[in-house]
Amino acid sequence: MKQKIGFMGLGIMGGAMAANILKAGYQLMVYNRTPGKTETLAQMGAGVASSPRNLAQAADVIIAMVTGPEAIYELLWGDEGAAEVLGPNKVFINMSSVPPRFTRELGEQLALKGTILLDAPVSGTKKPAEEGSLVILAGGKQDKIKELEPLFLTMGKKVIFCGRVGQGSMMKMFINLLLGVMMEGFAEALNFGRLGGLDLEAMLDTVFSGAMNAPMFQVKAGNMRDKNYPAAFPLKHLSKDAKFVLDTAYELGAPVPAGQMLLHLYRLGVAQGWGDEDISAIARVMEYLSGK
Ligand code: NAP
Repeated sequence: MKQKIGFMGLGIMGGAMAANILKAGYQLMVYNRTPGKTETLAQMGAGVASSPRNLAQAADVIIAMVTGPEAIYELLWGDEGAAEVLGPNKVFINMSSVPPRFTRELGEQLALKGTILLDAPVSGTKKPAEEGSLVILAGGKQDKIKELEPLFLTMGKKVIFCGRVGQGSMMKMFINLLLGVMMEGFAEALNFGRLGGLDLEAMLDTVFSGAMNAPMFQVKAGNMRDKNYPAAFPLKHLSKDAKFVLDTAYELGAPVPAGQMLLHLYRLGVAQGWGDEDISAIARVMEYLSGK
């Protein structure tokens, strides 16, 4: 019999991921801090929990897809938090992007209750979340990840086993460092070319025709053309992840000079009021810095 699933956090990503779990025939209970976001899922047949505790009571597998560590703490140990009703018969899966150290410590705290923690952040953004084609970066007990693979594959096209608990988060920091550098590099080069009098379409043609072509550049090019940046991955979230990368790099002694610059530039975007726009709004930061 399929496990009963509880899903907390119905933002850009979580709403779409929970819908795919439901469509695959799982019994699903959802919770969101702002209750209005549960309506679509309720209409599709999901149960709505009045609190994280209420949700955790009803579920065998509890998934969280929220902003970061503070939100996870709130859901577990805040008002009507889920932690009180966790026990050996339940699995907690954190799919939010958080630092590896946070995940390891959370794993130790949940182990005191006998609850297994898996960390399974995702690579992919709004559209892959809607299409169920995310890449799931899983850390934790490998046999549990294998057992839950059918559940993961309702949300993603593939599960990559990253190692012990915390290593899913480490893989997420790795890929988001690369994502941030690529996005910033794309915006910086386009702005450089613009100031040098190059035509945007000719620059894009040059990128797409050569070895520098990347699917992400193609996806984001439309935003650059329109100078409109509707959030698929909000800039404020990449700013948060840049901070997590730097904290992790400090612990590891890993040099991340470009990572340092990323934190500065993406935070500048947040300070300018563009945090709820897409990460491609880093183009606005470039224009702002060039004063034209
Ligand atoms: P989002 O749209 O901003 O949604 C954030 C969710 O977290 C909402 O459900 C929000 O509840 C909840 N939340 C925030 N603070 C909370 C708190 N203190 N207590 C309880 N709930 C809280 O974010 P998203 O884009 O879906 O991203 C979710 C996670 O996935 C983040 O870790 C992000 O870095 C990661 N991620 C995002 C993308 C992407 O492309 N968007 C891709 C990969 C990974 P409310 O509705 O009440 O605000």
